[in-house]
Amino acid sequence: MDLGIKGKSALVCASSRGLGRGCAEALAAEGVNIVMNARSEGPLMEAAQQIRDSWGVQVTAVVADITSEEGQAKVLAAAQGVDILVNNAGGPPPGVWSDWERDDFIKALDANMLAPIAMIKALVPGMIDRGWGRVVNITSQSVKAPIAALGLSNSARTGLTGYVAGTSRQIAPEGVIMNNLLPGIHATDRATSLDGGVAAAQGITSAEAKSQREATIPARRYGTAAEFGATCAFLCSQHAGFIVGQNILLDGGGVNSTM
Ligand code: NAD
Repeated sequence: MDLGIKGKSALVCASSRGLGRGCAEALAAEGVNIVMNARSEGPLMEAAQQIRDSWGVQVTAVVADITSEEGQAKVLAAAQGVDILVNNAGGPPPGVWSDWERDDFIKALDANMLAPIAMIKALVPGMIDRGWGRVVNITSQSVKAPIAALGLSNSARTGLTGYVAGTSRQIAPEGVIMNNLLPGIHATDRATSLDGGVAAAQGITSAEAKSQREATIPARRYGTAAEFGATCAFLCSQHAGFIVGQNILLDGGGVNSTM
């Protein structure tokens, strides 16, 4: 299927590895020029070069912390005029409900609610002026079904979800389509680190922690960044214009609900 977005441009935040990288790769494969971002220069430059070499698109790489105002300004300076925005950032650390203080919540809100909102506010007006745009926010299955140890994520991402629900319906008449993609467990460094935490807590190996978790997923495996990226690219495509304000769960059936 031709997604109809060849020659467009996209900002994919937090994209040197993992799910963001999967989205950048899938969009580049469709001929979309990419602005990528991450905090560590080496891995980011390497990822940018690999994408240029693989797909022959223009790739601009911006080293910045997307959760800080300075980082956002740096990224936005390189991303003016993009047609597509994919919001992403690292996830908050796990813990117990009684661990978290005000500062922990502020950090989680900055990363997983306020940073995406800042990017939306900065880039959507240009999309509206041009009469076409796509925004995909990477959130989490935790907005549909809470993950007890990830209370900071449950809270901040649900806040973003509420903002997107209303905003997506205000910008759709202007040709700008916004949705959220909700990853269940995917085989990325983040998943490896969460498996490591479970392994340490239960006195088992990381491989055993992974097998235990896979057994709880109807698909009996973790998702891949490539599968995730392909769904993101579809939501950014010409074909997705009637999908507005949705929360699309990619979890191998892990969340046990009817709708
Ligand atoms: P990851 O740790 O594998 O990759 C994160 C990417 O973001 C890397 O490129 C990293 O350099 C970049 N990054 C992190 N913090 C950044 C910041 N402040 N500024 C700029 N770049 C930054 O993570 P992932 O598994 O790809 O997860 C992406 C998001 O999806 C996270 O918010 C995570 O919590 C969420 N999520 C992941 C899963 C999963 O199973 N992998 C499940 C649910 C939710």
